[in-house]
Parts: sequence; structure tokens; C-alpha cells
Amino acid sequence: MDFIIRQSGLFDIYEKVQAGQRISAEDGMRLFDSNDIVAIGKIADARRVRINGRNAYFTMNQHINPTNVCRNDCLFCAFYRKDGEEGAYRMSLQTIRHKVEERLAENIREIHIVGGLDEQLPYQYYIDVVRTVKEIRPEVNIKAYTAVEIAFLSEISGKSWAEVLNDLIAAGLNTMPGGGAEVFSPRVMRKLFMDKLTAAQWIEIHHIAHSKGIRTNATMLYGHIETNRERIDHLIQLREAQDISGGFLTFIPLAFHPENTRMHKLPLATGFTDLKMISISRIMLDNFPHIKAYWVMLGVNIAQIALSFGADDIDGSVVEERIYHMAGSKSAQMMTKKQMQNLISETGHIPVERDALYNEIVTQVA
Ligand code: SF4
Repeated sequence: MDFIIRQSGLFDIYEKVQAGQRISAEDGMRLFDSNDIVAIGKIADARRVRINGRNAYFTMNQHINPTNVCRNDCLFCAFYRKDGEEGAYRMSLQTIRHKVEERLAENIREIHIVGGLDEQLPYQYYIDVVRTVKEIRPEVNIKAYTAVEIAFLSEISGKSWAEVLNDLIAAGLNTMPGGGAEVFSPRVMRKLFMDKLTAAQWIEIHHIAHSKGIRTNATMLYGHIETNRERIDHLIQLREAQDISGGFLTFIPLAFHPENTRMHKLPLATGFTDLKMISISRIMLDNFPHIKAYWVMLGVNIAQIALSFGADDIDGSVVEERIYHMAGSKSAQMMTKKQMQNLISETGHIPVERDALYNEIVTQVA
């Protein structure tokens, strides 16, 4: 294998990774400039093994998207609707209660709650969504609201970001998802998601959450108009943010799905790009404990291969997913525990059922 990496011209990067060292932005650009996916994957795997050994994590989880009504108009979004538009919905607290109760028999560890910025719903509704879910399943980790939603809740309530987080924590919030980061590039932001947070604002909200003991995730939306340099800048900003707080758990590269968006003429990211993104993320983000290959977005086949290209987590059972399926995702809506274990075992990794904080639930040696 050393021979393959030597041939790629990336051996110095491999040596740094093997020594547990950080690589530079320019090293990251060299990885993007290379098409030697086998060598890049091997370097990523070296970092992955140092951090996570052969473990590959999955969880039993549930997604709830309380409303798809959104005041924003992000060009890449197939999920949102304007109020009153066909397909627009907002769930009552009773509906949310039913959705949680429907799956009470399952050992769900994490409930993921994100949605649109719905101005017709009062601040208290968003708090009560968390409280309702927590009341029914107090043992489950509630992972709710992106930084963009926290900023929106601050705006409609007149409260500070910290005060909003205090209210959510009092209602039962345990962790925060990593959405809304998109790409930390003012150029891309102006073109695709003008009304969202700047990189500094997104990071500040996560840092406030970390200071309150709330672990969070981070994402990057790739495969649209971003450049390789913008991808590297994004990863460097996240790495520096993690150096400050240490509160990020998982990085999730998210491929843009063009179907049903106003950017539908763009092609879907290829498997090659997906694997390159996962690998380079793992190599660059030496201080992130986990890199997720989100199977709903990548498809099961690529998610499985990604475990050998730097990823150590495939997400979970899900059951009902709206955001990527409204953007044309052809993946299934759910996977059983057995399916996830088999998918991981086949790759020679060790399936580890985890809770939201990566505490091990059950380990099955492959
Ligand atoms: S990505 Fe989020 S903020 Fe943007 S339109 Fe969609 S739901 Fe709204």
C-alpha cells in the first residue's frame, strides 16, 4: 500500500497523518487536486484507524420535521414551502406526540428535530416541541434545531442566542445538529442562501452551546457551486473552532441533491466526489472525533464503502426522512438494526450501536 501512496505523490501527507500530525490548507488542496482516490482513501483510513480503530457506529433514531414552512428562499432547498403553498405543512403538538408514541416499542436513542423558519408559529411552539418529545421519552437524547433556527428563535422572541438555548435546555434539549453551515464562503452565501448566518455567527452559536455543555455536529453542503479552496476554508474554520471549544462531535459532509430545487440543472455529486469529500474531511479534521457517511444522503452503497475512506458512522434507522427525499433521494426511508450491522460487518469493521454521545450500547464483533 505504501507503494500506491508513494506513486500518488502524497506520501508526505500520509507520513504526517501516521505521525498524528495536522496537515495544512495547502496539503488539503493537493488532496483535492489529486484523482488518486485509492491513495487518498488510504490516508484517510490511517487517520480513521488512529481515532476510531475498526469501530463503525450506528444508532436507532427518529427524525421529526415539525414544519416545512420557511421564510427563507435558499436556492438549494427542496424541503421548504411558503405558507399556504401546496405541500406546506405544520405539525400540531398532538401530531408530534403521536409520532413519538408510535415508536415507543423501539429502543430509540436519539430524536433529531429540524424544520423551516415558520413565522406563523409562536416562539413557545418551538420550545414545546422539545418539551413534548422529552415528556414522552425522557431517556432519549433530543438533538434539536440548527444554529439558523436558534438565530430565528432569538429574532422572533427578542431573546439572546444564549437565552434561547437556556429555554431549550430547560425543555429537554441535549445536543444540536450541524445543519445550516452550508459553505462558509461569502461568495456562495450571496448566491445561494443570502438570509442565513455568516460563518462567524454560525460558529458563535455553536460555541455558546458548547459552553453550556451541549455537544453539537457540523456539516458542509458540497457539490453545487463551491470551489475546492472554499471547501478547504470551510474545513479549516471548523478545525479552528473545534480547537477553541472541543464541543463538536461529528462532521457530516452533505451532498447537494438538485432534484426539485431551483438548481435542478446541476448534476448530482458522483460517488467519486462523495468519497473524496469524506476522505479529505477525515484527513483535515484531526480534532473531530467522528466523520459520518449519512446513508440517507449518500445511498447505502456509497455509505458502506465510505467506511474504508475515513467515515466511522453511518447514522441510524431514521424511518421517516423528508429533507433529502423531497430533493429526490432514492434511498430507503429506514434501515433495521440487523441491516446496519450486516452492512458494517461486510466491510470488516466492527458494528457499534451508539447513543447520541457515542456511548456504546451493544458491540457485535464482525
Ligand atoms: S434550507 Fe432551511 S432556511 Fe433555507 S429554505 Fe430550506 S428550510 Fe428554509
